[in-house]
Amino acid sequence: MQVKNIAIMGAGLVGSLLSMYLKKHGYQVTVYERRPDYRKAENYGGRSINLAISERGWKGLAGVGLEEMVREIAIPMPGRMIHDVQGNLNFQPYGKPGEAINSVSRGGLNVMMIDAAEKAGVTYLFEQRIMEIDPSGKKAMMEDMSTGRHYTLEPDLIIGADGAYSLVRYAMLKTDRFDYSQAYEAHGYKELTIPAGPNGSFLIDRDALHIWPRKQFMLIALPNIDGSFTCTLFFSLEGKESFEAIKTLADLDAFFDTYFPDVKSLIPDLHHDFFANPTGLLMIVKCFPWSHGNTMLIGDAAHAIIPFYGQGMNCGFEDCTVLDTLIEEFNHDWSKIMPAYERLRKPNSDAIADLAKLNFIEMRDLVADADFQFKKRIAAKVSALHPDRFIPVYSMVSFSHLPYKDALSEYHRQDAVLTEILGWPEIENRWETDYLPQIAERLFNK
Ligand SMILES: Cc1cc2nc3c(=O)[nH]c(=O)nc-3n(C[C@H](O)[C@H](O)[C@H](O)COP(=O)(O)OP(=O)(O)OC[C@H]3O[C@@H](n4cnc5c(N)ncnc54)[C@H](O)[C@@H]3O)c2cc1C
Repeated sequence: MQVKNIAIMGAGLVGSLLSMYLKKHGYQVTVYERRPDYRKAENYGGRSINLAISERGWKGLAGVGLEEMVREIAIPMPGRMIHDVQGNLNFQPYGKPGEAINSVSRGGLNVMMIDAAEKAGVTYLFEQRIMEIDPSGKKAMMEDMSTGRHYTLEPDLIIGADGAYSLVRYAMLKTDRFDYSQAYEAHGYKELTIPAGPNGSFLIDRDALHIWPRKQFMLIALPNIDGSFTCTLFFSLEGKESFEAIKTLADLDAFFDTYFPDVKSLIPDLHHDFFANPTGLLMIVKCFPWSHGNTMLIGDAAHAIIPFYGQGMNCGFEDCTVLDTLIEEFNHDWSKIMPAYERLRKPNSDAIADLAKLNFIEMRDLVADADFQFKKRIAAKVSALHPDRFIPVYSMVSFSHLPYKDALSEYHRQDAVLTEILGWPEIENRWETDYLPQIAERLFNK
């Protein structure tokens, strides 16, 4: 199947990156986006929402020459800063010295990518909504939202990069043997802001991802370059302690006074933001196959995951770098590229979905747990002594390009080994001395 012109549905982070890779391969690429051009939006640059980029994301950006530009607007976060209820702080590095995940403005990144893609020759059409895909998978029914006009597109290839609620995927639901599952989390999220201090100063440590773990819920904060922090409260949607249960300003004050006393004074607009900002929902989507006829899915449209490993976008960017390689390997024959792409990516996107669920428990609960911290210390020590033979799971996911599915297998193996080691006699006193060689031997990556 030879392809000349490609329509990408969705100008989000993944659609925009993909458009640049496809352009690089010589295709005619048009991106259709239902929203108005973000760059003209009046409140663009207003409330800052950020996300964490790690190694897989950087690779995706580097492949289209954007890494350096994005690094200029990114803040490295070499570890998590844990805040307990008493206000005590505990910094836990994510990896080796020099390794960090990076906080970047979602809007800023998206705009940078659209500008770069247009410069490279990609056409962007805003306020154009995909409504339906023809059952053959070859035609897209569109709506021009500025005029209400309906029209049909028949490009050589249609790529659904239209996010977690993908309409392209919805059309695939009606095709034979399409597996699909969608599950909402019991937790939702709300964004709040710690503004910058005097002269753009940071009111809490800039160089960390801050976590206030409270077992069944948590608050996190990521730094922005203007000195502010975007906080996200992950909290049950319903129940005794939940978004639903906080009905009044007094409820909200009592909740923050009990669980986040050190943060309350840092969020001056707490009352307004909590009730005015929407409560976001979290959903996991798994489906297969990711292609039908001349249509395929990428990014959240193919695999929406929960955000607790900070990998949704990173995984979508890896989809792009994998496709980039396959286009070369199969010499632009999309009848071979599409099946190879979905076969390679599906086990990995399933694995990162599972790892993200496990990491939620780790973030909201275990980071404050003594056994968990001890396991981390042991793993960090072995990794420092034997960097070539032992990579902790967090580093595999965030600082390497090893397949997510291998990181998931290692998660289960390493956790079982560490749990057993914790039961060894006098482990607290002996782990760094006579036990260390045995511990290392047991932990080395298989
Ligand atoms: C709270 C939260 C925190 C997160 N933090 C991180 C993080 O730290 N690191 C990380 O890697 N990931 C993170 N993620 C995940 C990340 O946001 C997503 O994985 C990423 O945005 C997916 O990109 P995408 O381009 O596939 O989809 P989207 O970003 O959702 O873009 C889809 C685009 O398609 C457009 N669209 C939708 N329907 C249509 C239609 N019918 N016609 C035309 N256009 C359409 C939309 O307007 C949008 O522009 C987080 C997610 C959440 C919810």
